[in-house]
Amino acid sequence: MVDSVSAVVRSQIMSRVRSKDTRPEMVVRRLVHGAGFRYRLHVANLPGRPDLVFPKRKKIIFVHGCFWHSHVGCGGARVPKSRTDFWLEKLGSNKVRDERNMQALIEAGWEVLVLWECQLRDPELIKRIRTFLTK
Ligand SMILES: [Zn+2]
Repeated sequence: MVDSVSAVVRSQIMSRVRSKDTRPEMVVRRLVHGAGFRYRLHVANLPGRPDLVFPKRKKIIFVHGCFWHSHVGCGGARVPKSRTDFWLEKLGSNKVRDERNMQALIEAGWEVLVLWECQLRDPELIKRIRTFLTK
């Protein structure tokens, strides 16, 4: 008897469910929400469409993937060995854009915290976030 959902498809579904819950941004959202802070998501009229925006506090949290945002000194930010030129240019322009957005936000009076994917398992993370949001 063959199952209607093949094992391959099922494992794809399962991995999608899992990865949804562990996406870096979701980890931070859950943590921040659980600590009682309320925020807006991906505010389109702010530079870089920040991940979490706290309008009354005038604060912003970005959750950056180490690879896509070139986390300096991080093992997660290694440039692929194939199509290296392509990646260097792509990741370099991401970085320039990040810096430009950050500058624009700061000039507009926002305080910005960047959390990196590789820091999300730190048990002190919520403390850091709380300090940032309440200082
Ligand atoms: Zn990192």
